[in-house]
Amino acid sequence: MTSEFESEFESESESELENELENELESELKKYSGEGCRLKTPEGEYIDIASGTFNLPLGYADEDVVNSLISQIKRCSHLSSSFTKRAGNSLVKILAEQAPENIESGWVRDITGSTANECAIKIAQKKSGKDSVISLFLSHHGQTNSMTAISGNSFRREGFPLSDSPFSLKIPPPYCHRCPYNASYPGCGMLCVEKINDFIEYASNGSIACMIIEPILGNGGNIVPPKAYFEHLSKLCEEQKIILIADEVQTGVGRTGYFFASEAFEFKPNIITLAKGLGGIGIPSAAVLMESRLDVLQSHEHSFTSGANTLALTAAFATVEKISKPEFLSEVRRKGDFLGKKLNELGEKYSCISDVRGMGFMWGLEISDSDGQPDVELCNQIIKAAYSTQNMIVRGSRYGRGNVVKVRPPLITEDRDLEEIIVRLDRAISLCTK
Ligand code: PLP
Repeated sequence: MTSEFESEFESESESELENELENELESELKKYSGEGCRLKTPEGEYIDIASGTFNLPLGYADEDVVNSLISQIKRCSHLSSSFTKRAGNSLVKILAEQAPENIESGWVRDITGSTANECAIKIAQKKSGKDSVISLFLSHHGQTNSMTAISGNSFRREGFPLSDSPFSLKIPPPYCHRCPYNASYPGCGMLCVEKINDFIEYASNGSIACMIIEPILGNGGNIVPPKAYFEHLSKLCEEQKIILIADEVQTGVGRTGYFFASEAFEFKPNIITLAKGLGGIGIPSAAVLMESRLDVLQSHEHSFTSGANTLALTAAFATVEKISKPEFLSEVRRKGDFLGKKLNELGEKYSCISDVRGMGFMWGLEISDSDGQPDVELCNQIIKAAYSTQNMIVRGSRYGRGNVVKVRPPLITEDRDLEEIIVRLDRAISLCTK
């Protein structure tokens, strides 16, 4: 039995420890504050052209989203899905209005892109009675075991044998700048699509349920396929009865100047997944949208505790309301064109930039050496110099293993800040290439 003294001592030290932890946590988080595209830290103010974890389309603290969240959190921060069902259905309706016309249904029981993609794949498997998934080299679809298994990067699977899935078939991507078939568009005969039949015939288990693609390969290097890729791919998938999933976790919610990148490419996937930007200012929220014939899951087959909770829904409603406005999207296109023009000028100025590609607020600068080979080291140096000498937060492709500098500020970044971004990038590249 514990003596009176011991229990008193314990509770006192426990509460001291709790206080200490609370103070530490508070002071740690209080060090940071953000506004628009700028983040204030104890070391100084930074322009964030990575948009946080690419999940801040409205920047660090959009007033409307913040106010909606504050009033909701005061009423209740969580309700179980039996109470949020109608609100979830309304969100699906609003999102479907923005999507290609074949998309009519949806599922909002996720808060991450990884599980939204798993949901899409489960739908395809249940509907088709088949199991395998086609995905692209260099793709990234999430970090659960099954999403690591289908993503096109071995470095994420290293040390995790569970991630080796027999149901994954990976194929070369539509990467025109370094075509896997050594061909060049448009005279290439679209080999990146035409060869898929061979992969299915010789490398699959003969039971393909679906193919999942990012309309612009984000982490893989901001790879923008030609529009015709989507037309050819859709035709092939229709012929092969393969359900096509667009992973719009990065490209969705206005990033390309269209609410969905699918619209920009006149692409009509059977399923679209969203996450990241859907929460506007970083509030976890995700959605799976699909043709109504694919609305086959029952709630016990895919749902998570915080999926479509009051905060996720509130943030998504406030965000979609703002970003879906035609005048908001046309501003993203206008400013995105300006950003692209300025980045292309940098491409002309520096020989280490071998390709400038993107649209809207989603751009990449491919960094190569004098032989045209990928220069990962220089890419990382530029990113480091941007941070330490120019106070600018920049990310590279493939978590520092790639050679593409990603330029993706929040969608609300103003013209003068875009100009400032170019000046700082110019200085960082110049410092590293002297
Ligand atoms: N899909 C894409 C295209 C992504 O970029 C990511 C994350 O980076 C995911 C899915 C996974 O999303 P989450 O990290 O929310 O699970």
